[in-house]
Formats: sequence, C-alpha cells, structure tokens
Amino acid sequence: WSRLTGGMKRTSSALTERVTGLFTKRKLDADTLEELEDALIQADFGVETATRISEAVGKGRYEKGISPDAVREILATEVERALAPVAVPFVIDTAKKPFVILMIGVNGAGKTTTIGKLAMKLKADGHSLMLAAGDTFRAAAIEQLKVWGQRTGTPVIARAQGADAAGLAFDAYEAARNAGTDVLLIDTAGRLQNKAGLMAELEKILRVIRKIDAEAPHAVLLVLDATVGQNALSQVELFSKAAQVTGLVMTKLDGTARGGILVALAARFGLPVHFIGVGEGVEDLEPFEARDFARAIAG
Ligand code: GDP
Repeated sequence: WSRLTGGMKRTSSALTERVTGLFTKRKLDADTLEELEDALIQADFGVETATRISEAVGKGRYEKGISPDAVREILATEVERALAPVAVPFVIDTAKKPFVILMIGVNGAGKTTTIGKLAMKLKADGHSLMLAAGDTFRAAAIEQLKVWGQRTGTPVIARAQGADAAGLAFDAYEAARNAGTDVLLIDTAGRLQNKAGLMAELEKILRVIRKIDAEAPHAVLLVLDATVGQNALSQVELFSKAAQVTGLVMTKLDGTARGGILVALAARFGLPVHFIGVGEGVEDLEPFEARDFARAIAG
C-alpha cells in the first residue's frame, strides 16, 4: 500500500492541489466544475470520465458548496467504479505446461523490467520458469534479460543479436516443455519506427507458437508506459491488430501525474489490467486493485 501511494504521489498531489484550490472557500458554480473537469483531463482521465466525475460533484450542491475532502471522496468512488471491472487478477493455468506468456509493447515501455519483476513474483509463488530473449534487435535487451535470469535463478533462452525471434520463441517453447517448466515468459521487440516489421514479427511468433499448442500463447500482456498519456490508447489499438491482447500492465505510474490514463483505457477498451509498475525496483510491481488505486489517486 505504501509503495502504491508513494508511486502514485505525482498524480494524486497534482489532483489534490487542484481540488483544494478549487473547492476551498468558493461557491460551487459551472466554472469551478469546468476547472475540475480540465484538471481531470490533464491527468488523462479522458473527457467522458472527467465529465461524469464533475457532474457527480456538482449534482445538487450548487447551493451548499462542497469541501475538497468530499470532492476527493467522490473522485475515489467514481474511479473505483470505472476500474473495478478491469481489475482482474493474473492467473496461471497450471494445466498448461508451460503456461506461455508473450510480453509485447513499444521499446522503453518497461517490458524487460516487468518480465524480471514478474519472474520474481512467479518464482516466489512456487512456479518454475524459463525466459526467452525475444527482443533480438537490441543486444542490451538480451543482456538485460540474462541479468534477470541470474537474479531469479531462471534459465534464459537467448541467441545472438539479429537472430530470428520466432525461431527463438519456438525453441524456447520446446525447451520449456521438455524441461517440464511451469511458465515461459517471452520478451519481444517493440520497434515503433518500423510498425509493419513489428507486426509481421509478432504474427510470425504467434504462428510458430501455435504450431505447438493452438491455444498458446496463454496470455498476451501488453506493457504500457503511463508517462506517454493518451498515446497509450493508440498503442492498444496498434498491438491489438497483431495479437489478441489478454491483459495490460501499466508501468511508470510513479513517474507521471497522468495516472488517470488507466481510467481512460478502461472506458475505451475494457481490457483486464493485471499489474501496475510503481518504480524501478524488483518489488515495484503491484497486482492491480481498483479500490487501492482509486484511494491512492484521490490522495
Ligand atoms: P523495454 O524496452 O520495454 O524492455 O523497457 P525496459 O524494461 O528496458 O525499461 C525501460 C526503462 O523504464 C528502464 O530504465 C526501467 O528501469 C524503467 N521502468 C520500467 N518500469 C518502471 C516503473 O514502473 N517505474 C519506473 N520509474 N521506471 C520503470
């Protein structure tokens, strides 16, 4: 909880400041509500949700006014209501051996770091793991994954930079199956500068994995960087064209005042949000809980 509130500080203090400034010793009028709406839009809640929240705040209160605390209470309630349907715990189906998780997302979103954090968690839960260094474009990504492998005591299937990612994914899947590994985590490249190439590569990875098991990958996690704000929406659209995204991981919520983006994503796509990243440390990956998040964001 303290990691979450600490991580969400930038979003929540930006909002709290605005709310306090707006609703202290001021009568409630249309301008105030419009300013609240603007503040929420700036925090990337999306226009629809921002309007709904400011309407909820205004409802029947023009005469009496409203305290900043009461506004924050309404904010927390509305955010929780918007996020509850997408706050879905991440579950490993142990009948699949291995349970194959494909991690996708643009470069820099935090894929490799999230794989490391997730590997730590899954290991702690008693699962055996294997990692596949499928971002074969960047030598640094391969090295980074090997470091996570060492830290978590997990075998890493890697090839030289420039190797075929789909071939690597196939080999890793076979290796994990032969070893009786519980979970295989596959990293991928995220070169947005070559969208066609990126899509073709993901499709090829999916094709070869399905040769082994038509239901694989069993989870496709799209990693999104909260600091990109509204761009996250177009990233979901882009990646959904190549792969059926089963869930989202939102990273870097600690580095931004735009934490409302999760609400906008929920309103637009309704995709499950499994985890949020609130820091660079290995412990800084939290299962996504609507109530805790809503309370953290409302300050
Ligand atoms: P990839 O290119 O998608 O694999 O991204 P990386 O995993 O290499 O991460 C890019 C940068 O983001 C690294 O410096 C990470 O430490 C950082 N990062 C990842 N997740 C988080 C997070 O939740 N919070 C913060 N502050 N930084 C993060």
